[in-house]
Amino acid sequence: MGCCRKTSRWEYPGRRSLLTAVIVICGALVTFLGETNAAAIPTSTLEFRHHSNEEIPDILASIHGRCPNITRIYTLRERSVRGLPLYVMEFSTTPGYHKIYRPEFKYIANMHGNEVLGRELLLHVASYLCERYLAGDHDMQKLINLTRIHLLPSMNPDGWQVSTDTGGTDYLIGRTNNNSVDLNRNFPDLDRIMFSNEEVHINHNNHLLEQVERLQEPIQPETKAVMRLIMQVPFVLSANLHGGDLVANYPYDASRSGATTEYTESPDDQTFRHLALAYATNHKNMANPKRRGCGDDGYNFGKQGGITNGAAWYSVQGGMQDFNYLSSNDFEITLELGCDKYPPASALQEEWENNRNALIQYMWQAHIGVKGRVRDAVSGQPLSNTVIHVKNVTAGRNDDILHDVTSVHDGDYWRLLTPGHYVITASRDGYHPLSHRVIVYDRPHEEAQRVDFHLQPLPQLMPSANGDSKSDTEYEEAYEETVRNNIVNNLRKKWLLNAYKHAITSN
Ligand SMILES: [Zn+2]
Repeated sequence: MGCCRKTSRWEYPGRRSLLTAVIVICGALVTFLGETNAAAIPTSTLEFRHHSNEEIPDILASIHGRCPNITRIYTLRERSVRGLPLYVMEFSTTPGYHKIYRPEFKYIANMHGNEVLGRELLLHVASYLCERYLAGDHDMQKLINLTRIHLLPSMNPDGWQVSTDTGGTDYLIGRTNNNSVDLNRNFPDLDRIMFSNEEVHINHNNHLLEQVERLQEPIQPETKAVMRLIMQVPFVLSANLHGGDLVANYPYDASRSGATTEYTESPDDQTFRHLALAYATNHKNMANPKRRGCGDDGYNFGKQGGITNGAAWYSVQGGMQDFNYLSSNDFEITLELGCDKYPPASALQEEWENNRNALIQYMWQAHIGVKGRVRDAVSGQPLSNTVIHVKNVTAGRNDDILHDVTSVHDGDYWRLLTPGHYVITASRDGYHPLSHRVIVYDRPHEEAQRVDFHLQPLPQLMPSANGDSKSDTEYEEAYEETVRNNIVNNLRKKWLLNAYKHAITSN
């Protein structure tokens, strides 16, 4: 049955007055649309079929042509092993730029080459965002006005090709990249560093890359490309799209004890459960307790609300999800989008309908909790790299959340939190720490509430002339702390270079 395979390349609007979108629907119904009536634009003009690696840039270019003011296409610095570019489509009102107070969000799909649904879904998300924006959909316009969204439809185009060329039916063929490396085991294992820190009571609980001393295996180009993206863009929230089951999986993915299966809570367990539920409950089936499980391993995640702690399912080291959480300010979950890793083209439309609302509602979660800006109270200068620590004081609790975030470029920060009462403390070398008590409310589809900090500088610390031992000690401590922070910052930048060199020499 070849009728649905008929393809029309999207016309690309070089001549604006003659802009037409051509849709070929099964049965050879052909519709021509002018650009006159925005409301008549269909919700998605992208076909429901599997798109090749060569078609991805064409589709993105076509969407960019429709929505040039709110989109940008870029490629990651590294290409796949076989030399294919890794394309990202960005949606924002300031394409190419981070804007103060605006959270950054990302979806990455198809990191396992034979898990292909997420790849098609992200192409549809891109098409949908553009079309709904043009159609005057207030909710979508608001989302794009308030959020910078990055979509990477395929992190592993080489694996996709292998899987597709072999019929897309094997559970494993095409999973890895072209060097036979599973990219979701190839990130530096920061979980182990975090758990070691916990054991010896080092409270260094974020941005752990600088503690990496050696790598288990060379970092693959696809991994390196995404690591660089994570280091460069101050992401707040993301998800990583897979297939093979139907569940929203949240950190930690690696078990604390090393056991194969063991619920391994992160400091943000409550927030992560909320994030996973935000996806699962907005998906048509994921949270349905009556649906059937996927495998014969006894798991039916529908019975537990469609969510699971990663390590409680099975422990994974070197995964991308936990790497995001432990190397940056980003919170990431892993979405398993269905039992079938390579669903037939005929299933794609239904899968889009199953996932559409969940994909949109999850992006809105970048606005939960609080955000703000940190500045020097005297000079007004923005203060980046300020540590934001949170204590949950809801209903008489007094619990430190042992995962700090840091302020970025212009002193802006985001702290995802579920509704409750919190004490938020900003601290930075050379300044008096400052705490604000805040109540976080459940306000769907609204910006996070703003909690700004104006930090008072400490008096300049100088070694005392009379050799007073007390002030000498104070000076030394402050000095060491400053030096350590500088080292940490430099290492953060140097680390990728070193990882590079290592990967190149050991390949
Ligand atoms: Zn996978």
